[in-house]
Amino acid sequence: MTSFTETDEQQALREAVAAMAANYGQDYYLEKARTGGHTDELWSEAGKLGFIGVNLPEEYGGGGAGMYELSLVMEEMSAAGSPLLMMVVSPAINGTIISKFGTEDQKKRWLPGIADGSITMAFAITEPDAGSNSHRITTTARRDGGDWILSGQKVFISGIDQAQAVLMVGRTEDHKTGNLKPALFVVPTDTPGLSWTKIDMELSMPESQFQVFLDEVRLPADALVGSEDAAIAQLFAGLNPERIMGSASAVGMGRFAINKAVDYVKTRQVWKTPIGSHQGLSHPLAQNHIEIELAKLMMQKAASLYDAGDDAGAAEAANMAKYAAGEASVRAVDQAVQSLGGNGLTKEYGIAAAVTASKLARIAPVSREMVLNFVAQTSLGLPRSY
Ligand SMILES: Cc1cc2nc3c(=O)[nH]c(=O)nc-3n(C[C@H](O)[C@H](O)[C@H](O)COP(=O)(O)OP(=O)(O)OC[C@H]3O[C@@H](n4cnc5c(N)ncnc54)[C@H](O)[C@@H]3O)c2cc1C
Repeated sequence: MTSFTETDEQQALREAVAAMAANYGQDYYLEKARTGGHTDELWSEAGKLGFIGVNLPEEYGGGGAGMYELSLVMEEMSAAGSPLLMMVVSPAINGTIISKFGTEDQKKRWLPGIADGSITMAFAITEPDAGSNSHRITTTARRDGGDWILSGQKVFISGIDQAQAVLMVGRTEDHKTGNLKPALFVVPTDTPGLSWTKIDMELSMPESQFQVFLDEVRLPADALVGSEDAAIAQLFAGLNPERIMGSASAVGMGRFAINKAVDYVKTRQVWKTPIGSHQGLSHPLAQNHIEIELAKLMMQKAASLYDAGDDAGAAEAANMAKYAAGEASVRAVDQAVQSLGGNGLTKEYGIAAAVTASKLARIAPVSREMVLNFVAQTSLGLPRSY
């Protein structure tokens, strides 16, 4: 029997994350974003309190819980105005892949640091000439004695400047073309031959995006995660957590925007009653609230299925949740700006900054259109156009 009530532990976790995040809030986040700083204090406190690694195995320093709990952490941080992008990448994608498929040595080396936040691991799959079509990636790994040599280029890699390592998705020389048979490598960011340049984005976020270059990057044999042959399964293992976390970030941002708008329209008065009594404002905000709650329900379904080991069920729900949360949060942020009138566009009220940021949930980690393709093909059985 499915329960719609969170356990005492989950409720306590939600309260604890919300309390910590409230001490930082959006002012802290935007100040870092606007001055080119990073949210190191918040990241490290969240790590010490066990929030970042809540989904990772206890024997490697994690909390031993699941994606439900990690998505709850992300949602509460985002609802408080601090949606830390590296949460999607470091514990959710990389932590999952390494704990499921890494060797014992890899688990010991990377997981405790990912869990306590002392290690941030970036994730690199996107390439300029491949985009949404990951089968076209050309970053290539070739063997040289016992070593691997990686060459290629990546784009839009979040936070590699803050990271101690990056999980790099390449392909081996034997599989240069055709359907992707990926090979996954953990690359310490100080490895010779690895470099990056910052991409100027119109996004008020403390994490930056980078174009990354791999010029004959030499790695020891044990940089390969798990097995060369199982790597497609390894890569896919990271995708559902990524989509669940993308949904959590968007759900939190929607809640944040709606709360800001509600607080404002309750007190702002330009006629006889507060503007929040005009149905031209109250109805769209009620609609936004409904849409965010619906998206959250699908996100929780996805996380619950994932934690129960139903990967196929989780994939459909995670895609649907990512779509729904992205759409709902874009609309909620738009309506919040509208509800604040001129103040909606000021820096002081901080909601305009979310306009561009909210669009991210439609584009990454997988675009709205690619989610619709997945649902059309997988849920409805329709033929592909590509
Ligand atoms: C802020 C930010 C952070 C990111 N962080 C990371 C990161 O850390 N690591 C990483 O690897 N990547 C990262 N990405 C990359 C992100 O995953 C890609 O931008 C995304 O997958 C879309 O790829 P693209 O930008 O190449 O767009 P394209 O693939 O060029 O798509 C452009 C448009 O065409 C549409 N389209 C493409 N194919 C089809 C089709 N078959 N049917 C219908 N429409 C289609 C897309 O939906 C989109 O609307 C990040 C991106 C951003 C913006």
